[in-house]
Amino acid sequence: MSVLVVGSLALDTIETPFGSVREAVGGSATYISAAASYFFSPIRVVGVVGGDFPQEGMTLLEERNIDLEGLEVIKSGKTFRWAGRYRYDLNERDTLSTDLNVFEKFDPKVPERYRKSKFVVLGNIDPVLQQRVLQQMENPRVVICDTMNYWIERKNKDLLETLRRINILVLNDSEARLLSKEPNLIKAGRVIRGMGPTVLIIKKGEHGALLLTESVTFSAPAYPMENIFDPTGAGDTFAGGLAGWLARTDDLSEENLKRAVIYGSTLASFCVEKFGVEGLRDLTYLQIQDRFRQFRELSRFDGD
Ligand code: AMP
Repeated sequence: MSVLVVGSLALDTIETPFGSVREAVGGSATYISAAASYFFSPIRVVGVVGGDFPQEGMTLLEERNIDLEGLEVIKSGKTFRWAGRYRYDLNERDTLSTDLNVFEKFDPKVPERYRKSKFVVLGNIDPVLQQRVLQQMENPRVVICDTMNYWIERKNKDLLETLRRINILVLNDSEARLLSKEPNLIKAGRVIRGMGPTVLIIKKGEHGALLLTESVTFSAPAYPMENIFDPTGAGDTFAGGLAGWLARTDDLSEENLKRAVIYGSTLASFCVEKFGVEGLRDLTYLQIQDRFRQFRELSRFDGD
């Protein structure tokens, strides 16, 4: 099944306690599509970059066989830029700057060829743009959406409109509390599912993820990492891995949703081991399967 991804393509300036990088290739669409591409489905990107987006970024996506017909290049414009700094506790991140640049006037155009894609991943961008993409799609089977506090606070009404049109929402614990105005995550899950998505996945940083549906509460473990260099993109990579697995299997059963959450966590664990997108560059399917099996061992126990 083909997957359409919309989101940012960015130049990120990142500081962590272990090092820093200036204007490295990043962005939600970059991480989502790179992660999803490991599951062998055709991946298509809708996004925008400026003339300053490095060839290295294009090559990364091309080498993963990602279809870039929907990527607009505005030669005279500047690429979206984001800068962030992580604290000693890597779950805490301060955004230092966000420069929308070419995103300011972005009007996503879904190429004709992409409109029948069965899976859509709406990366974290303005909910109005997310809706514009959905309006151009012909009957997608599954719509997966990511968002962040920025949109929950500034475009709440538009975000609620987007939520009515999606199936699966992925967000982190603090965003779930903010969106639902409910501190308890299980209750928050119920409130948010009432807003539209039948499936909700709440990411809890290095503490794993919760999958919530009408009949399932599944707590996925986190991979015990010794070497976390840079958490940037972990959330997007999670969404990409999840979408890639679901598109590959075209199976939304409860058991397969659980597997998809573990695949998302698996891809995210590779992402954070290196700076920027480096962790997603040269993975093999074998490495992914191997770590997936290690995830299974993490919470297996003998109940007798
Ligand atoms: P994550 O660590 O998964 O939350 O995602 C980090 C990525 O999101 C970075 O590569 C940023 O370029 C991108 N990003 C940060 N803020 C925004 C925003 N407001 N809109 C779109 N993309 C963003």
